[in-house]
Amino acid sequence: MAQRGTTRNGEADKIPASDLPQPVKIQRVRYTKIFINNEWHTSVSGRTFPTLNPATGDTICELQEADKEDVDKAVAAAKAAMQLDSAWRKMEPSRRGRLLHKLADLVERDQKLLATLESLDTGKPFLQAFFTDLEGSIKTLHYYGGWADKIHGKSVPVDETFVCLTRHEPIGICGAIIPWNFPLLMLMWKLAPALSCGNTVVIKPAEQTPLTALHIGSLIKEAGFPAGVVNIVPGFGSTAGAAIASHEGIDKVAFTGSTEVGQLIKEAAAKSNLKRVTLELGGKNPCIVFADCDLQLAVEEIQKGAFYNQGQCCTAASRVFVQDRIYEEFVRRSIENAKKIVIGDPLDPQTTHGPQIDQQQFGKIIELIESGKKEGAKLEYGGGAVGENSLFIQPTIFSDVKDSMRIAKEEIFGPVLCIFSFKSKQEVIERANNSQYGLVSAVFTTNMDRALSVSGALETGTVWINCYNAMHVQTPFGGYKMSGNGRELGEYALAEYSEVKTVTFKMNDSM
Ligand code: ADP
Repeated sequence: MAQRGTTRNGEADKIPASDLPQPVKIQRVRYTKIFINNEWHTSVSGRTFPTLNPATGDTICELQEADKEDVDKAVAAAKAAMQLDSAWRKMEPSRRGRLLHKLADLVERDQKLLATLESLDTGKPFLQAFFTDLEGSIKTLHYYGGWADKIHGKSVPVDETFVCLTRHEPIGICGAIIPWNFPLLMLMWKLAPALSCGNTVVIKPAEQTPLTALHIGSLIKEAGFPAGVVNIVPGFGSTAGAAIASHEGIDKVAFTGSTEVGQLIKEAAAKSNLKRVTLELGGKNPCIVFADCDLQLAVEEIQKGAFYNQGQCCTAASRVFVQDRIYEEFVRRSIENAKKIVIGDPLDPQTTHGPQIDQQQFGKIIELIESGKKEGAKLEYGGGAVGENSLFIQPTIFSDVKDSMRIAKEEIFGPVLCIFSFKSKQEVIERANNSQYGLVSAVFTTNMDRALSVSGALETGTVWINCYNAMHVQTPFGGYKMSGNGRELGEYALAEYSEVKTVTFKMNDSM
């Protein structure tokens, strides 16, 4: 039987094949319009756009294309829902929490359908969508549902003639601009804390992958959220996305995507109304493999990190530094392990590796692989497209990679594992930190003193020790340097969706 070695959380590997969830047959996609005020709208411009299945190149369906005027309508709805006397504003916080739990239950009810839509639209294997994206979405909704009635300020002791307290209030109208690599999960990372804190939202899914977001629109209505609290505007980045980033009526924007677009969003926010901005951007994530590590564990974890989701992860394990004594063996075992990957139809439960998202990303990855070959890295495995006229790329392994090569510096966002050799701890820390990015890193060693000292020295928002992609909804996620601003997930994300107000009373009757 084929191995399912690259499912990230390994859930599918624990279930007998006969009990695995199966994709749903989809005759017609139901939700293809713009979702504003709990209703479905056609675009003001009358334009539509297609969404494609990257595994086949076929059009899945046509969608209404939102542009600036549609964003204006969505913002007006979100603003009305945020008025002081609105149902949402007056709602008891625990009731907000119940709505989030209800939404989680509806996502769970539709889990197979949503995983099928996600797999069709992104090309990611169905089982990975089911176990990572959907399970992660459900957990995120429950987690922030639990927070809704526990968000509170403090009473602050000051001069005795005053009483001071702080209130944690919603920021207002939050824009969310979503990427195509984890369309539903990244949406939930923004939607759930925003609603938990009492905000209203305008969400723009990526143009490549709008389907699951729109299905969530239908569940928002079914769960009973008041009209206008959640609005979803499918459209393109330079039109609908830019309209959100520069909108005078939006109070905060949360973005996940490329560093280049992150810069545009921050600039647009600064030039419009100085809206708050959180950014989760690119990475060129270092993994440090010391000679005393559990080698097989390191090989398997790093390979999941490099090839998971076809390498289309900001967390991809893209710079793997291996201590010289175990270098040859690490390369050999990595090649052996890569042979277990099953490339194929994303809806087939055997498949662990699907196509890249689109022609543009495919071309960029192939060009970077070619640069690696030209610049003298040693191609150990893969190294090109699978067949002709497809978006599938072979899992690719380079050894003898030098820090100056393009594949060592640029984010590839494809299934390419780059292996470097190092001698000493001091040297590898300097090389690992020599990057404009600082998202995640990993350390493999059985010496816990070393693991902790190295984790303190690495300039990244997350350090994984003897594991990779170990994400939890309870722990914050975000980047140092050009990998982003702010944190998503955990209690920390609540601060990104609230304003703190100080209320000061003067007492005329002090002791
Ligand atoms: P990638 O380069 O990997 O395709 P992007 O950063 O371009 O990723 O896209 C992530 C999200 O940002 C998508 O929803 C996309 O539509 C949106 N986007 C792209 N360009 C802009 C822009 N100029 N302003 C706002 N959003 C944008």
